[in-house]
Amino acid sequence: MLKLFLTSARCVRITRFHGVCGLSTSTPASSPKVCIVGGGPAGFYTAQHLVKTRTDVQVDIYERLPVPFGLVRFGVAPDHPEVKNVINTFTQTAQHARCSFHGNVRVGKDVTVEELQEAYHAVVLSYGAEGNRTMGVPGEDLAGVYSAKDFVGWYNGLPRNRELRPDLSCETAVILGQGNVALDVARMLLSPVDILKKTDITQHALDALAESSVRRVLIVGRRGPLQVACTIKELREMVNLPGTRPEMEASEFEGIAETLKSLARPRKRLTELLLKAAIETPGEEELEKRNRAERAWGFRFLRRPLEVLPSTDLIRAAGIRLAVNRLEGDGEGVRAVATGEVEDVECGLVISSIGYKSLPIDPAVPFDTRKAIIPNTMGRVQQTAGLYCSGWVKRGPTGVIATTMNDSFDTARTLLQDIGKGTLDVSTVKPGSQGVSALLEKRGVKPVSFSDWEKIDSEETRRGETRGKPREKMLDVGEMLQVARIIAYGCKSYNTGFGTSLCTLGYT
Ligand code: FAD
Repeated sequence: MLKLFLTSARCVRITRFHGVCGLSTSTPASSPKVCIVGGGPAGFYTAQHLVKTRTDVQVDIYERLPVPFGLVRFGVAPDHPEVKNVINTFTQTAQHARCSFHGNVRVGKDVTVEELQEAYHAVVLSYGAEGNRTMGVPGEDLAGVYSAKDFVGWYNGLPRNRELRPDLSCETAVILGQGNVALDVARMLLSPVDILKKTDITQHALDALAESSVRRVLIVGRRGPLQVACTIKELREMVNLPGTRPEMEASEFEGIAETLKSLARPRKRLTELLLKAAIETPGEEELEKRNRAERAWGFRFLRRPLEVLPSTDLIRAAGIRLAVNRLEGDGEGVRAVATGEVEDVECGLVISSIGYKSLPIDPAVPFDTRKAIIPNTMGRVQQTAGLYCSGWVKRGPTGVIATTMNDSFDTARTLLQDIGKGTLDVSTVKPGSQGVSALLEKRGVKPVSFSDWEKIDSEETRRGETRGKPREKMLDVGEMLQVARIIAYGCKSYNTGFGTSLCTLGYT
């Protein structure tokens, strides 16, 4: 009696996808079907661990854009090609017989998380951090003020940022924040174009940077030299950047040399390099480099933005008002406290690099709005069986790709343990991608497979070769879909993942 009831309950569920219950119940006992939301490092590393560890698990990755790899493509700086080598590992995972990539599918809009839960035994949310923290100061909306997220998206070819067209006609730029992203942005603003033109930077950004008037970049932080959030590799790249010289305030480094002995090794090496750039008398070769340099960069410490100051026509940024801080406490607990003093710095470009932020994806998924993460215990989404998370949406937007790899492996381990313990039920037959494809088709969404992406990839590589670059990225979702043969050339409309748009391309 009970068995009969279970079978009919399963029939009801499967009918929603196939329409013919008999078809699904005749399928042999199902293997675990897992879907992953987000085709960035967290998604690919989670998938890698799942397919490698269990020989029967089937994994589908759903990605909002037609192209995979998340911030490896749209975040990592163009002059860091070695970092992008992880793409080779992700490609192997995507080509695994039990892994499939479904690009151009926006979860939360094209398909809901609840629908994915119906179709799969488990859903792993690995959709990163696509929002950004705002400064919350007057003048933030003036022309000439950008978030680092948008600026990075612009030079890296993120479709939604292609129209950013930052105004680079001023001499001084101020970057707020002193982490690696801030240093990436500073380097992009100051690098000789001859270096950038051999990278995969988008041509429109390269052209704009070639015309840029920016000669001086100040990298501003709330706290002191001992608290900078960048790593030594990025700082060394700034120090060695051809055509530039450091321009720091020696007074901001008073007493720092004396603390060196007490610092842990990574912080000590970072601080030594900072001191060398800031206050040491340079050797002959370095002095010559600095004398020849036409561009300058420097950290400004103990400063917090109060207001972006407008130009006389009130349209664009003309400067920034900073509160001067002092430090209280020591060690990890050191705090920046306002002194009451303020300082105005003239600048026409302000880039806030104060952090990315995850956003809620679907009302069915719990979200901690204060921490801006999905609340979880070791990757298990709290109070929601069968739902997991990995990457930046799990632990917040910090850490390098290796950190993301480790935490994605942890989530995959948790999921596999739950299958082993029986707390994740994989005994029922689930339709997996077949069920979701049927829904997407009904909704006019056209998914991009990994081999479709490979067509885009080879076209981008071909276009890059003609310019002596590793690739020339496509900036338009419609063009990507045409090249992948997902939509016909000359189409009138397509699903951009942001709603339907008119296709205005004359791609040849
Ligand atoms: P992401 O890489 O953001 O991937 C999330 C994916 O989910 C994206 O592809 C997104 O399109 C997709 N997605 C979002 N919403 C949806 C949805 N609704 N439906 C379907 N898909 C969705 N690390 C290094 O080791 N070296 C570096 O040089 C380096 N440089 C960096 C530079 C910048 C500017 C930034 C921001 C980070 C950098 N990192 C670097 C860190 C590294 O990029 C991250 O650790 C890593 O990308 C986080 O992976 P993730 O998969 O959690 O997020």
